Amino acid sequence: MMAASRDADSAPRVAVVGGGIAGLTAASRLARQGCAVTVYETGRGPGGRTSTRRAGPDGQGWQFDHGAQFFSAKDPHFKTIVDEWVAEGIVGEWQGTFGVLDGNSKTFTEDTETKTRYVGTPSMNSVAKSLAKRTGVELVTSRRVVRFEKGADESDSWSVVHRSSAPPPVDADGNLTPEPPKADPHFTAIVVADKQTASDRSIRVYNEDPPIKSAEAPVIWNGMRAASQTPSFALMFAVKRMNDKVSLFPFHGATVTNDKTLSWIAEDSSKPGRPLNENKSSGTVQCFVAQSTADFAKARVKAMSTIPGTSPHQTLLDEVAREMLEAVLRLAGMDKKSVEVVHVAAHRWGAAFPGDEAFASARESGGGCLSDFEKRIVGCGDFCVSPKIEGAALSGAAAAARVTEMIKGTPSASL
Ligand SMILES: Cc1cc2nc3c(=O)[nH]c(=O)nc-3n(C[C@H](O)[C@H](O)[C@H](O)COP(=O)(O)OP(=O)(O)OC[C@H]3O[C@@H](n4cnc5c(N)ncnc54)[C@H](O)[C@@H]3O)c2cc1C
Repeated sequence: MMAASRDADSAPRVAVVGGGIAGLTAASRLARQGCAVTVYETGRGPGGRTSTRRAGPDGQGWQFDHGAQFFSAKDPHFKTIVDEWVAEGIVGEWQGTFGVLDGNSKTFTEDTETKTRYVGTPSMNSVAKSLAKRTGVELVTSRRVVRFEKGADESDSWSVVHRSSAPPPVDADGNLTPEPPKADPHFTAIVVADKQTASDRSIRVYNEDPPIKSAEAPVIWNGMRAASQTPSFALMFAVKRMNDKVSLFPFHGATVTNDKTLSWIAEDSSKPGRPLNENKSSGTVQCFVAQSTADFAKARVKAMSTIPGTSPHQTLLDEVAREMLEAVLRLAGMDKKSVEVVHVAAHRWGAAFPGDEAFASARESGGGCLSDFEKRIVGCGDFCVSPKIEGAALSGAAAAARVTEMIKGTPSASL
C-alpha cells in the first residue's frame, strides 16, 4: 500500500473533477491507498449520468433514473466490483419483461435471451452516493471547476479553481454577474473525470475556456477532444395507474425501433427498491423514463446553449417534454384524455454517449485512461474504455492505479 500509514495531514492530496462513476471509482480507490481526495462536482449531488430525479407530492416517492437505465458486467474485474456492490445492498437485479417495441406496428416482442440487468438500489445514483462517502473522500457539490494552476508554491503542487454552478445573478442592466472563483491549493495530482472539461460548451455557455486547457497537458486535451459524442433527451413522466391490472405498456423496459422520436421506454418504478415498488399501497402512480433517438436530440440540442436552470433553458426543455410525451402516448395507442399524467419533465444530455475515438489513445497512455506523468494529471471516464457504466468504472480504476504510480515517483518532500 502506498501511504496507508501516513497521517491525514501528510497524506498526498488528490483532486478529482467529476462525481460520476469514473471519478468516484478513482477517488474511493485512491482514498483506500491513503490519499486525501477532494471530488468537485458541478451537479447538486454525485452520479453524473447515473443520476436520479425525485418528484411527487412529498418530493420523494416518484423516482426517475433519467440517465443510465441498467448495466451489465462483462469484464471479470468489473464483475468482482459489482458483486461487492450487490453484497453492500447498493445494487440489485432488475427482473421483469424486456424486449423490443416496433414503432410502426406498435407490437412488442419479448427478449428470449437471458441477461442480468443490474440497477442501483434504491436508485441508480446509490453507487455514486456510496463511493462518495468512503473514508478519505470529500465531495464538494454545486461547484464547477474552471481552471488548474500549477507551481504557485515551491512544492510544484496544483491548485483547483472553481466557482458556483448555480445560475449567476443578473444586474440591473441584465448582465450576468458571476461570483469570483475560489482556489484550493496543494494537490499533488489531479484526476479529470469528464471529457466535457475539454469541450467548447464552456465558451458557448459561460464564455470561459474549457478547464483542462489551462493544465497544458496535450495527451489529455487531445484525447478528450478526439472523442465524439451523441446527445440524448430523457423524458420523465408519472401516470395514474388505470386499474390494478392494466399498465401503459405490456413490458418493464423496451428498446424502441422504427420511431423518429423515441429509442427506449421503461417503467422505472418496476425496478427493485423503488418506493412505488416496495410500498404497493402507494402504487396508484407509475413512473416511466423514455429516451429520445440520437437524431431527435441532435436536431434540438444545439438550440440549448443556455445556462441550465435559467428560464430560456427551461422553455426549450418543456417543448421537448411535450413532443416526447406525445410520442409515448402514440406508441401506447392512447390519447391525452385516457391517461392521467401527473408529472412530466425532460432532461438534456448534451454528451450522453461518447464515440470510440479515444479508446486507443487511452489504452496507450494509461491502460484505460489518459495521463501526463510529468505533470501528475490523469483524464478518465467512459470515453476511455466503453460508453457504459462498466467502461466508466474500469477507467476510474485505471486512473487510480496511474496516480498511485505518479505519487510513488514523486519526491516525498513535495507530497
Ligand atoms: C440517457 C443515458 C442512458 C444511458 N444508459 C446506459 C445504460 O443503460 N447502461 C450503461 O451501462 N450505461 C448507460 N449510459 C452511459 C453511462 O451512464 C455512462 O457511461 C457513465 O455513467 C459515465 O460515467 P462517467 O463517470 O464517465 O461520466 P459522468 O457520469 O458524465 O460523470 C462526469 C461528471 O463530471 C462532472 N463535471 C464535468 N465537468 C465538470 C467541472 N468543470 N467541474 C465539476 N464537475 C464537472 C459532471 O457534472 C458529471 O457529474 C447512459 C447514459 C445516458 C446519458
